[in-house]
Amino acid sequence: FNETQYRPTRAVINTAAIKHNAEQLISYLPKKTKLIAVVKSDGYGHGVAQAASVALQAGAEMFAVATPDEAMTLRKTQPTADILVLGLSPVSFAAVAAQHRIILTVTSESWVKQVIAQQPFDNKCRIHVKIDSGMGRIGVRTEEELAQLVKCIQQSDLSIDGVFTHFARADEEDREPTRRQFERFMRLVNCLPEKPRLIHASNSAGALLFPEYALDAVRFGISLYGIPPSDTVAKQLPFKLKRALALETELTYVKQMTAGEAISYGGTYEAVEGEWIGTLPVGYADGLKRSLTGQEVLIDGKRVPIVGTICMDQCMIRLPREYPEGEKVVLIGKQGKEEIAIEEWSERLNTIPYEIAVTFSTRIPRVYT
Ligand code: PLP
Repeated sequence: FNETQYRPTRAVINTAAIKHNAEQLISYLPKKTKLIAVVKSDGYGHGVAQAASVALQAGAEMFAVATPDEAMTLRKTQPTADILVLGLSPVSFAAVAAQHRIILTVTSESWVKQVIAQQPFDNKCRIHVKIDSGMGRIGVRTEEELAQLVKCIQQSDLSIDGVFTHFARADEEDREPTRRQFERFMRLVNCLPEKPRLIHASNSAGALLFPEYALDAVRFGISLYGIPPSDTVAKQLPFKLKRALALETELTYVKQMTAGEAISYGGTYEAVEGEWIGTLPVGYADGLKRSLTGQEVLIDGKRVPIVGTICMDQCMIRLPREYPEGEKVVLIGKQGKEEIAIEEWSERLNTIPYEIAVTFSTRIPRVYT
C-alpha cells in the first residue's frame, strides 16, 4: 500500500478500457493512418505514464503533449517514442528538444530566426508546422506566410517532419465548418515544396466523425479515455467507447439526525427527523467543486444526493437508511445497474467533461486495474 493511499478516495483507472478505445480506433481508420495518443495534462487526468504505455501497446505510434515540460516528463517513461509538443515552446527549448528527440510545433519565422542564432545543434530538431485553418489560436494562415516560414526553416537546423491543423467545431452537428477548415488546410499543405512525413488534422471528434480526413495520423485525446467529445459525437459513435476512469470512496462517518439539525457551512441543509447522513472523505480540494451540492453519488447501487455545502476535504450525503462506515461509494462510474458519467458533473457545472477530467487533484491517488 502506497502511503498516499490511506484515504479511501481514489480514481480507479481501467487500462483495458484505454487499450480498447485505441485498438477500436486503429481498426476503424484507414490502415496508413497512425494513432497519435494525446496524453497532455497528465493523460487527461488518468496518469500520463500509464496512459502512454497502454496506448503504445494498443498500437499508438506517437504521443502528443501540450508543453515542453510535459514532453520531458513523458520522455522519462518513454525513452524512444516520438513525442510532439502541441503548444509553442520557448526558443531556448529547441536545443534540448533536439537532444531528446522531442518534436516541436512551429508557427513563426521570428522563432526560427532566433533558433538559427542559437545553432549549431548536435542533432537536427524535428518540427511540425502548424496551420491555422480556422481555430484562430496558433498557426500560419496564408500561403505567403507558409512559404516564408518554410524557406527560413530550410536554412536552419530544424527539419520538417509534419504539418498539422486543429479543428474547432468537429464535434458539432453542422459538418460545414470542419469541411471548410479541411479544405483550407489542404490548400496550404499543397503549397509545400515537399510533402512531410506526417500530415494530420483530426482530434477525437474529427477521427470519429470524419474518417475521410484521417490523412497520415489523428490526434486522439478525450476519446482515448472513453469520453465522447460532445453529445453530438456520442450519438454517432462508430464503435463503443469504454470509460477508463471511476472515482470512488467510502463512508467514513454515519449518523442519524433529529428534525431541523443543519449540515455543513452556512447551515443550508436541514435534516428531517430520523434522517441518516453519511460523510465522505472527498471535497473541493480533490476537484469535487462546491457547486456540485445536489449531485448524486452511488451507494448500494442506488443514487443519493450530496447535501449541504461541500467542504475542502469532505462532504455529506443523504442515506436511505443506516450503512456501516467503510461502505463503498461511487462518485463517477458504475455500481450495480446504475452509472454516473462525468457528463453529469459537467452539465451541472455548465462546462465540458474535458475540464472535469483534468481538475481531479493530484491528492487523489490513481489506482490502475
Ligand atoms: N490536437 C490539439 C492541437 C489539441 O489541442 C487537442 C486537445 O485539445 C487535441 C488534438 C485532442 O483533442 P481531443 O481531446 O478532443 O481528442
